[in-house]
Amino acid sequence: MLDLKFIRNSPDIVRADLKKRGDAEKLSWIDDLLLKDIKSREMQTEINTLRNRRNIISKEIKTAKKEGKDISTLLEEAKNLPARIKDMESELEEINKQIKFYQMRIPNILHESVPVGKDDSENVEVKRWGEPKVPSFELKNHGELIVEKGLAEFERAAKISGAGFYMLKGNLALMDLALQRLAIDTLTQRGYIPVIPPYMMNRAAYEGVTDLADFENVMYAIDGEDEFLIATSEHPMAAMYMGEIFEEKDLPLKLAGISPCFRREIGSHGLDTKGLFRVHQFHKVEQFIYCKPEDSWALHEELLKNAEDIFQMLGLSYHVVNICTGDIGTVAAKKYDIEVWMPRESAYREVVSCSNCTAYQSVRLNIRARDAHEFEKKYSLHTLNSTAVATTRTLRAILENYQEEDGTVVIPEVLRPYMNGAETL
Ligand code: AMP
Repeated sequence: MLDLKFIRNSPDIVRADLKKRGDAEKLSWIDDLLLKDIKSREMQTEINTLRNRRNIISKEIKTAKKEGKDISTLLEEAKNLPARIKDMESELEEINKQIKFYQMRIPNILHESVPVGKDDSENVEVKRWGEPKVPSFELKNHGELIVEKGLAEFERAAKISGAGFYMLKGNLALMDLALQRLAIDTLTQRGYIPVIPPYMMNRAAYEGVTDLADFENVMYAIDGEDEFLIATSEHPMAAMYMGEIFEEKDLPLKLAGISPCFRREIGSHGLDTKGLFRVHQFHKVEQFIYCKPEDSWALHEELLKNAEDIFQMLGLSYHVVNICTGDIGTVAAKKYDIEVWMPRESAYREVVSCSNCTAYQSVRLNIRARDAHEFEKKYSLHTLNSTAVATTRTLRAILENYQEEDGTVVIPEVLRPYMNGAETL
């Protein structure tokens, strides 16, 4: 959420950003939002004056009585004041609700380097690593291969949980855990604190961290409870300091979240029913940083580098794309994706999302930092997040890139110590 003061003082920056995004609807909200903001502040001043009057009028009545003056006008005023205040308070509440409605939906201000584009086809490649593998034989479909090898079950998973679920078995289950361990070890060696968060969150916390549309399209709600299954550990790690104030000496705070991720995937095409690419549940190690605003762009590059290093250790070739306006969503100011090479499709596919959310989440969650030099001064800090590894898509990339003609899959060396030394699947 953008700070109301920022919108008030720099409406042209907000308008220019919405123009860059091509968002005519939200652009049309700005004038009304500014008018409502003026009205809200005027009404608040008036209410304060009336409340003050209510406090002193009884004294005035007493004095006037003592002095034998006519108090009928004062009595009439005192009688009407509470109702007037109440009416104004409810009118103000309504106006503030409308302001909040706009504020919750106006997107973050984009970094100047974000390319303009209508959808993911216009994301811009910024880097390539490794040689995309071109196999000299026909690769087997990864889903069929792992069923054949007794390493996964799709039909039994569908029988008990529905389409879009899977069971991993044997060394493939160990490889899922190995990927998480590789990411956790890499990040903890670099100063990130591992965190296992709650796997459910209530609505108030959830509204602070995500796009409102996600309540319909992404999260599973728990029937009869104010709880949602988390779509990523980014969400509890962002919300955990809701309403709190950091001391500057504690920044940057670098976390590595470890959790399953639950996704309804409503509206997205191609839920995998016999594969691991797009599923309802997967594991993810997620990087998360709280920092001072002036540090966030350098840390954004650090998060990307950590994720790239993991894919380099796995020997999977990839490219990095700068996500364009039509694909970036409302929360990030800039987002990189890493897309890994999938040789069966001869295409790069997304495996990592790395975002600088600037102050958008912290304003919404009221998370601030206290200036180290001026005790009274507090400011909204910046938050960043990035996948380190999301297991199932990475498993698919390994199953394709390391597949041999006879269907053997060579296990990347870096994972073997986590898999009792196994060398192949
Ligand atoms: P996100 O949190 O949506 O930015 O996604 C982060 C990463 O999680 C993606 O880059 C994918 O690697 C992985 N991911 C997201 N959605 C799914 C899904 N439905 N099934 C499998 N992996 C997913």
